[in-house]
Amino acid sequence: MVEQATLCLQGIRKSYGVGSIAEAEVLHGIDLTINKGEFTALIGPSGSGKSTLLNLIGLLDRPTAGRLIIAGVEAASLDDAALTRLRASTVGFVFQHHNLLQAFTAQENVMLPLLAARGHADAGMQKRASELIAAVGLTAWSDHLTNELSGGQQQRVAIARALVMQPALVLADEPTGNLDTESANSVFRLMRQVNRDSATSFLIVTHDPRLARRCDRIIELVDGRIFSDRANQAQEEDMDGQIAMSDPARGKPTREQ
Ligand code: ADP
Ligand code: MG
Repeated sequence: MVEQATLCLQGIRKSYGVGSIAEAEVLHGIDLTINKGEFTALIGPSGSGKSTLLNLIGLLDRPTAGRLIIAGVEAASLDDAALTRLRASTVGFVFQHHNLLQAFTAQENVMLPLLAARGHADAGMQKRASELIAAVGLTAWSDHLTNELSGGQQQRVAIARALVMQPALVLADEPTGNLDTESANSVFRLMRQVNRDSATSFLIVTHDPRLARRCDRIIELVDGRIFSDRANQAQEEDMDGQIAMSDPARGKPTREQ
C-alpha cells in the first residue's frame, strides 16, 4: 500500500497584485511532495518566495494556479470556512515572531487552537495543554504570561501550540531567527524530537546552514523556483536524541537567554 503523501503541490504559481499594474508572479510553478514524517529544510535567498510558499501550504493564502493537496484533500475545492477547518486540523505554525498572545499564560496560549476549534473549554483541553507544556520543558512556566518568558521559551510555547491539534505538518518560518545559538539549538532539537516521536512532518525555513544540515532533506528556492531538492544525511552529532526537555533543569524558572 502506498502511503498518502502529507502534501502534494503541482504547478503552483502565485502572483501578488493580480489585476493591478503591480501584478508580479513570485512563484513560477512549484512541484513538491512531502511524505509523512519528513523533516525538511527550505532555504533560499531573501525574496525567493519561501514565506509565500509556506503561506500557501499553510492554507493562509490561495495559489494563483496549480494544485495543492494536503492530507488527501484538494484545497481548491474548499470554500473559506472549510479551508479554515482544514488548516486548523492539519497544519501547525511556528513563526519567527512567535506571535503568542502576550496577555495570556503559556498554558492558555497552547489551549487556544483547541478552544477555537471546539468553541468551549473542557478538562481534556487543559490536560492536553499541560502535557505539551511539559513536553517542551516549561511546566514551571505554564501559568506565566508569555512576555515573562525568554525568546527561546516563547518559541517552545509556540511549538507546543503548533502541536496541540496533532497536525500532520508543522510549518516553521525562521523559527530560530531571533534566538541565540544555544536557544536555537534547543528549539531545533525539540522539533526534531517531536518529528521522531510522532512522525509529524516538518517544513522549516531557515537561513542557518548548520540547522539545514540537520534536516533529512534540503529544498532550495531561488527566484520562485525549486533550484535544488536533495536528501541530506542529517549530521550525527545533532541526532543523539538528548533533548533539552528531558533535562530537569529546564523546567526551573530561570531565563535561558
Ligand atoms: P522570502 O520569504 O523568501 O524572503 P517572500 O515570499 O516573502 O520571500 O517574498 C517573495 C517575493 O514576493 C518578494 O519579491 C516580495 O517582495 C514579494 N511579496 C511577498 N509578499 C507580498 C505581498 N503581500 N504583496 C506583494 N508582494 C509580496
Ligand atoms: Mg520569508
